[in-house]
Amino acid sequence: MEAAPRVSFGVVADIQYADEEDGCDFLGRRRRYYRHSLRLLRAAVEAWAAEQPPLAFVLQLGDCIDGVNARRGAAEGALERVLAALRRLPVPVHHAWGNHELYNFCRNRLASSGLNSRPAAAPAAGPPAGPPGDCHAYHFSPAPRLRFVLLDGYDLSVLGRDPVSPRHRESLRRLREKNPNENLNSPAGLKEPQFVEFNGGFSQTQLDWFDEVLKFSDENQEKVVVTGHLPIHPDASDKVCLAWNYEDALSVIHSHQCVVCFLAGHLHDGGYCLDSHGVHHLTLEGIIETPPESNAFGTIYVYDDKMVLKGRGRISDRVMYF
Ligand SMILES: [Zn+2]
Repeated sequence: MEAAPRVSFGVVADIQYADEEDGCDFLGRRRRYYRHSLRLLRAAVEAWAAEQPPLAFVLQLGDCIDGVNARRGAAEGALERVLAALRRLPVPVHHAWGNHELYNFCRNRLASSGLNSRPAAAPAAGPPAGPPGDCHAYHFSPAPRLRFVLLDGYDLSVLGRDPVSPRHRESLRRLREKNPNENLNSPAGLKEPQFVEFNGGFSQTQLDWFDEVLKFSDENQEKVVVTGHLPIHPDASDKVCLAWNYEDALSVIHSHQCVVCFLAGHLHDGGYCLDSHGVHHLTLEGIIETPPESNAFGTIYVYDDKMVLKGRGRISDRVMYF
């Protein structure tokens, strides 16, 4: 009989809840089930809560409420409904911040909301819990020799910060440099099509901190799972839905031995690749474009030599060896 997993955790991406009739994606091709997404989340919570042995935590990969809420003044109520559904879990939830969080809230509001999952206490040993400033990135260790790093792909972004702030100006300058389109959400004609407003990037400060965490993990023979809203590998995404400077994050990962997997959301169709350095990149299918009779969530079981994803609905099962 196979040994019990060292840790198991739930994963869900792009819930994009709104109390709205069904709509379409920005190309008008895909149906978005705004209201049903909350029902699908509740079904996921019920399934996770029944798992034995119990999960260690759940990872919510970002875009938990849709940007349409902002236009209707419904953001706080929608967020409360999503958080209430997640509060039925007896385990902590780690939240990545996506573009839709930032359509609804500024960073200061997010930092004081239930979506701020960065631990309040500094870790007893090792690198600082997160980079300095208002970046929602941190690391945690749910079991010996296993570490998770949550990255903030909107650390550089024109979303969620005051337009007069230096970080906003710097981000807008970088975006305009790569994207001359009048509509900054349009990738038309771009050499690097990920330079659109609905994506963002990693600041050098965050990358330096990330490097420090991975160095610590290398030295302590840890396995590391990295996660964030935006995919960072072109083979696990389309060309548009990547973090602006995904190559910088990849090169930090590839300069260390410890990273085994990168988990992302944002691309509702999902994606997967095993990269040239043996790192698995898994982009999870989003709930929002999942028909009400199906679902899109999963549980990942971590063993000494592999991660086993048990997917539900649109998410397939997968074994990722390392
Ligand atoms: Zn997104």
